[in-house]
Amino acid sequence: MALIVHKYGGTSMGSTERIRNVAKRVAKWARAGHQMVVVPSAMSGETNRLLGLAKELSPARSSDALLRELDMLASTGEQVSVGLLAIALQAEGLEAVSYAGWQVPVRTNSAYTKARIESIEDKKVRADLAAGKVVVITGFQGVDEKGNITTLGRGGSDTSAVAVAAAMQAAECLIYTDVDGVYTTDPRVVPEARRLSSVSFEEMLEMASMGSKVLQIRSVEFAGKYRVPLRVLSSFTPWDIPIEEEAHSGTLITFEEDEQMEQAVVSGIAFNRDEAKISVLGVPDKPGIAYTILGAVADANIEVDVIIQNISKDGKTDFSFTVHRNDYARTVDLLKTKVLPSLGTDQIEGDTRICKVSIVGIGMRSHVGIASKMFRALSEEGINIQMISTSEIKTSVVIDEKYMELAVRALHRAFDLDQPES
Ligand code: ASP
Ligand code: MG
Repeated sequence: MALIVHKYGGTSMGSTERIRNVAKRVAKWARAGHQMVVVPSAMSGETNRLLGLAKELSPARSSDALLRELDMLASTGEQVSVGLLAIALQAEGLEAVSYAGWQVPVRTNSAYTKARIESIEDKKVRADLAAGKVVVITGFQGVDEKGNITTLGRGGSDTSAVAVAAAMQAAECLIYTDVDGVYTTDPRVVPEARRLSSVSFEEMLEMASMGSKVLQIRSVEFAGKYRVPLRVLSSFTPWDIPIEEEAHSGTLITFEEDEQMEQAVVSGIAFNRDEAKISVLGVPDKPGIAYTILGAVADANIEVDVIIQNISKDGKTDFSFTVHRNDYARTVDLLKTKVLPSLGTDQIEGDTRICKVSIVGIGMRSHVGIASKMFRALSEEGINIQMISTSEIKTSVVIDEKYMELAVRALHRAFDLDQPES
């Protein structure tokens, strides 16, 4: 008998009919002898609906006081879900109990709308499991030191589930979602994309962070840090398929690099349309410049991704970096008012019509020439590369957004990702 955590996304929780199906699936696992903890998201569309209501009422400027209320509001979607699911489980003849984040409690810091989990109390949950109950815990939400309700950022229920699995030392955390696993790339862009039966944590981190929107990236970080075995699988299979078959379906996110994975040099192509490029031109090329620019950006809690600094000419250089598109206006504003005056330049350029495309694979560690193969494939399509960044297991390029799909398809082909796993 193992302790298993199931996470169900908004689509799986989208109607009472679907919630009944979730309850039947959970009941199947419970009756097979497992201790079950279930973490559901809000019913699909609900979080958007709630935040839309707030938007109708609130002024454009955001404040900490407003963010607090957004969390108070948005967290209710998950509270509805746990109540309904516990009711459905009871109707299936199981003993079930639901908890909101503050009841467990799931403790977080106070960064409203993007709080981080700090600890999870497992006492109450263990006692319920020992008493034979299925425990249903809200995703997405927690409580800070002062008792304020917080949320973990959009898609945060994945992280809740993994954190619960880590705290409970669960045997596995199964993320049921509307895709049946992790693919070599988005099948909507490349119809030949293949499902991977396993992928390493490091690869998954790179793919999640670069827009393979299967899991919230923080959940993968969490799983890696606490070594939580994680599986992504479809919630659309009939609830009564054999449990053995279900337990081996989808994509397992593994710690070890097995033989098979070493053979694939590149495991996937990730892409991301969410960034914008900012260039500060003609800054003095002297120590402290990168710190002056990016330090101010970091202090404003804005995350920076790709960074390049050109070689200097006449003691001046250009400095470019990317930020999330949502942070673009704020970053430009910040630089113009607070940073550029001290650098003796007012030249700043921005481009929001860019995208980032990346090849990802742990096999890149032991193979040379992978990046050049990528650049060749792009050049054959006439695609200009604006920025490049590399790490041990990925190479990313920033290109014009209008070539994104072309680039992804060309790279998928160039690295033979449409061929079956050998
Ligand atoms: N309901 C939240 C959202 O839509 C959290 C989640 O679904 O994971 O972002
Ligand atoms: Mg999700």
